[in-house]
Amino acid sequence: MDGIAEPYVKLVLAVGQHDADYVDAFYGPPEWKTEAERRTMPLADVQAEASRLVADIPDLSAADRVDELAVLRRDFLKRQLEAVLARVRMLQGAKLSFDEESQALYDAVAPTHPESYFADTLEAIDRELPGPGPLAERYEAFRQRFVIPPDRLSALFDRAIAEGRRRTLQHVALPPDEHFTVEYVKNKPWSGYNWYQGGYRSLIQVNTDLPIYIDRAVDLACHEGYPGHHVYNVLLERHLVEERGWTEFTIYPLFSPQSLIAEGTANFGIDVALPGDERLAFERDVLFPLAGLDPSQAGRYASVRSLVDRLSYAGNEAARRYLNGDIDRAAAAAWLTKNAMSSPKASEQRTRFFDTYRSYVINYNLGKDLVRRYIETKAGSAPERRWEEFVRLLASPRLPSGLR
Ligand SMILES: [Zn+2]
Repeated sequence: MDGIAEPYVKLVLAVGQHDADYVDAFYGPPEWKTEAERRTMPLADVQAEASRLVADIPDLSAADRVDELAVLRRDFLKRQLEAVLARVRMLQGAKLSFDEESQALYDAVAPTHPESYFADTLEAIDRELPGPGPLAERYEAFRQRFVIPPDRLSALFDRAIAEGRRRTLQHVALPPDEHFTVEYVKNKPWSGYNWYQGGYRSLIQVNTDLPIYIDRAVDLACHEGYPGHHVYNVLLERHLVEERGWTEFTIYPLFSPQSLIAEGTANFGIDVALPGDERLAFERDVLFPLAGLDPSQAGRYASVRSLVDRLSYAGNEAARRYLNGDIDRAAAAAWLTKNAMSSPKASEQRTRFFDTYRSYVINYNLGKDLVRRYIETKAGSAPERRWEEFVRLLASPRLPSGLR
């Protein structure tokens, strides 16, 4: 497999020359990147080479077959290469439907939700927030009470990150020099991003274009940091790159099955680190006072938020219709405002995310659901066992189809 790994990394770097968003992280030999920039391999050549590599993937020896990670490695690399081929076809102009694209790139297809699913959820929220005027406006007014004052933002995030880290370290040994830095930025199509640098370091960026609500502190700390993306990348680097010498993990192509695992574990990791009432207690007793918000409202805010979370699948439906060409941008934004209760401005920002990242949206909610089911099937709901299986998943190259 080592003979496939190096050319795979170089091919992903080559695709990165045609698609600026493609290479999310790379910490292999810097000269490979320089060479890819110098050469700018034509897409047709990338396609031919990737097809050749898929055909050349060797069968596993009897010795390999007893090592579960070696089996996962082979299937993973093959599927990642197939996703390279799909992305190249897209860059050459191939038009895939939303579901065809997510299957080809992320090894998964999101379920569809009928309008009645959203209507029922909106009705439940309506009962929580009674009053005159449209529900979205009532929700918006309610939420205003939970905006983090901008001058407290970094204190809040630092505290939430420290909590996520403390809890994670109770269950997993991390290298002593692991570290990340947080930067506050504007004008991005996403709300937060982890740029893994290699050497157990991440740069995390937080987009401050829109108001940031108190629940984002825990979400962001756990999703981008502990036990989410940062820990995932650190464990891959330590166990697969350092210990086993598997070069393919020095690169992370964004439009590939790896992203469903990355986003799914980052989102489910929030629940692993702060299950149920522990999250509420931490927010109410620590974060609300730190932000100068009224802690007596924390419980009500959490229960409304958990209903609103069920609307996240509205993003998949809007993206599916918009990218399939069934509706235009304005209609997609209006659909989100109605069914996801996002503000008109946030809905518009979300359609820009669809333009850039397309069917990537499924990785967050479907990814979380698949990871949750996988972990709960293996571990039940005992917190200790959940952590064990969760960390094992983070440190192994498992495919989305392998979670079922
Ligand atoms: Zn993420």
